[in-house]
Amino acid sequence: MTFRATVLTLYPDMFPGALGLSLAGRALEQGVWSLETVQIRDFAMDRHRTVDDTPAGGGAGMVMRADIMARAIDHAAPAGDPRPRLLMSPRGKPLTQARVRQLAAGPGAVIVCGRFEGVDQRVIDARGLEEVSIGDYILSGGEPAALVLLDAVVRLLPGVMGNEASGAEESFEGGLLEHPHYTRPQEWEGCTIPEVLTSGNHAKIAAWRREQAERLTRERRPDLLEKRAVPQPVTK
Ligand code: SAH
Repeated sequence: MTFRATVLTLYPDMFPGALGLSLAGRALEQGVWSLETVQIRDFAMDRHRTVDDTPAGGGAGMVMRADIMARAIDHAAPAGDPRPRLLMSPRGKPLTQARVRQLAAGPGAVIVCGRFEGVDQRVIDARGLEEVSIGDYILSGGEPAALVLLDAVVRLLPGVMGNEASGAEESFEGGLLEHPHYTRPQEWEGCTIPEVLTSGNHAKIAAWRREQAERLTRERRPDLLEKRAVPQPVTK
């Protein structure tokens, strides 16, 4: 089954961008996923193809109009389209690996990229857009955020990553950051690879990696450990 991505944007030329290369690019060519862009401006109704207007209540910047956004969304994802409708937005729920996994298991996504100050609230509500943030900072538009989201999703689609196992061991998958990595040469600038990793003792290696993952998570992201500590309901 092909994962279908439809991106609504004022800058369709930004796609597939980085997703046309490497793993995602190959998967796109092979039809593991598909990418369609919709130019929001095509749904404007005046000669100048205006998509934005001044904010009600005053203030700086411009706001994307509800009526034009709705026409673009209804064209891209008519009622009955099973795909989630996402709006890239710094006010959204921060994107997590868990949400990325859910999306990758689904039929695709319709992704709206904001510009200017953002989008008229009425279209967010009326079309049930799920606001998704990629972090606590402000981009100039939703396009790089959409590329980030799609990159994270596409690499999880079946057959995209060479070594399927590498997905399961990564940062966040077990609620921990990943252990440090080493490779040849055995000695570099006077530093050697931790001995345990060259011992051939797989149980010891696994235990060392686990310890390192826990140490790094404690030092850098104690919030992740707190989340893991939530007691799970007992099932009999
Ligand atoms: N005035 C808004 C920011 C608008 S930035 C505010 O203060 O909340 C313009 C567009 O860039 C947004 O509509 C959104 O689509 C995108 N964007 C900016 N930062 C983002 C982030 N951290 N995550 C996802 N999308 C973002």
